[in-house]
Amino acid sequence: MRRLPVYVLLDCSESMIGNGLRGMRTGISSMLKALRQNPHALETAWISFITFDSRAELKSPLQSLDEVQPPRLLVRPGTSLGSAILLLSERILQEVKRSQPGTLTKGDFRPIVILITDGQPTDDWRTALREMNSTVKIANLYAVGCGDDIDFAGLREMTDVVLNLQQTDEQGWAKLFVWISETVSTASRGVADGDERELMLAKLPDSVEKIEDDDIPSYSGEYGRARQLFLTALCGENKQPYLMRYRWEPDYRVYVPAASHIMDAETCDFSTRGGTGLPAVNSQEVDGCPPCAHCGNSSAGSCGNCGTVFCGSSRQKDGSSVCPGCGAILRPGGGGEFKIKASEG
Ligand SMILES: [Zn+2]
Ligand SMILES: [Zn+2]
Repeated sequence: MRRLPVYVLLDCSESMIGNGLRGMRTGISSMLKALRQNPHALETAWISFITFDSRAELKSPLQSLDEVQPPRLLVRPGTSLGSAILLLSERILQEVKRSQPGTLTKGDFRPIVILITDGQPTDDWRTALREMNSTVKIANLYAVGCGDDIDFAGLREMTDVVLNLQQTDEQGWAKLFVWISETVSTASRGVADGDERELMLAKLPDSVEKIEDDDIPSYSGEYGRARQLFLTALCGENKQPYLMRYRWEPDYRVYVPAASHIMDAETCDFSTRGGTGLPAVNSQEVDGCPPCAHCGNSSAGSCGNCGTVFCGSSRQKDGSSVCPGCGAILRPGGGGEFKIKASEG
């Protein structure tokens, strides 16, 4: 039996926390369910999941639909797309059977790769891509950008099928994965040729737009400047962490608060925290803070002793507060300018 290998590359950078993470989780589960009900897919489609954040990780090797399980997705800082591409080519070389010249043994179909990303890569993906293109052959690579920070011209360098998930709520994600399931089903009938691809692209849901060559949205951000900024803070009340999301405001040249998200064992991988060597951002470039994701308190400060950023709910009547990080008692006016450790997601 010729298999149709399907590699799904999932961006699990911090910026995916919230809708992105939820959308991918639900979408993958329904995709696997849908594919298992399709006899062609069940017979031929084999699926592998690779995630990337501060590093690339093989979540599951190429497996049949009977075996494959939805991957456990957790966010971490960073967008190591290059590492993901290198891992992908390694896996393809290892797992995909090639036809043996001079024999009747047919190899697997050329793999389909689905890449879902919401940000700008933080590593050298171009070198990785060149390397991959010189070693392995892929049938189709679908690059799906979701969110406001996509460098579409960059994605276009990877493939001619660049899609934009415009609707990033639950429904938008659901429709995207229905379309991916249909695309895999169609390809699993063994006719993954050019015409078939055009047919599938014609059926794109209204939440997804194909980026045309003469209409690549120009990247409105500044290169070298992260469009989003993420700061970890602790709630002053329950001492639990949350992630503050900021958006760069070019007119004012500051990061303004956009949202805050609860960080827990269900959403984040804490094992690599602190050691990512990402750039520090001066607090002068950060204007205000989003409300605490735990208690809703709308102020935050940082501890002059240990550097922890925390919400204002531990503030006493006399204006002093206790740092949830180190327990120091902080008096008003005691803090100076502080450097915030931030990460690009
Ligand atoms: Zn709080
Ligand atoms: Zn402290």
